[in-house]
Amino acid sequence: MSLREQLCEYGRRAVELGLVIGTSGNLSVREGDLVAVTPSGVALDRLTPEMCPVVDVEGYLVEGGLQPSSETPMHLAVYATTDAQAIVHTHSVFGTIVATTMTELPPVHYNALLLGGVVKVAEYATYGTPELAANVRAAMEGKKAALMANHGGVTVGATLEEAFEATRLLEWLCEVYVRGLSVGKPAILTNEQLNAVIERALNPPTFPRRL
Ligand SMILES: [Zn+2]
Repeated sequence: MSLREQLCEYGRRAVELGLVIGTSGNLSVREGDLVAVTPSGVALDRLTPEMCPVVDVEGYLVEGGLQPSSETPMHLAVYATTDAQAIVHTHSVFGTIVATTMTELPPVHYNALLLGGVVKVAEYATYGTPELAANVRAAMEGKKAALMANHGGVTVGATLEEAFEATRLLEWLCEVYVRGLSVGKPAILTNEQLNAVIERALNPPTFPRRL
């Protein structure tokens, strides 16, 4: 699948799963110095590969008739400072709730480690601005995900599939936390407990074969 076909495929899935509505949300995938990105103003389930512009890492339009997503500066800022090869940004409900009410998503489940542990909420700035790009870049440091205050969430991956799965995981973690708050006080995993998970993952048990 070409990079632009991947944008169409995961764009459709993002809409199907309710991670975005209307023309919100944007995805990009990088190859070398080029980045294929979803266009501005088109719902993610209505994309065709030809609609998706290609920009270079400096932000110059290389291919495509439509304007790149308004959040392209944020994508480029993240590519410039991480080894990400793909980025997914949505306005998913539970992610946005956490981003509207908290300064970080605490690790209430050990799968949060897959995103780097605590997920930080990037300080608010107007969408599409260099300020927002800088805030996201700072919140994302050393992590695979960040939330954006009063806005949504963003995840990275080595592939678009990986970035998309990280977005699903981020939304799931936010949902568990938010729904947990309606039942009681969610317990937050300690660093010791999280380190034990890392230890366990690095040393999986082997099961002897019965002879
Ligand atoms: Zn947005």
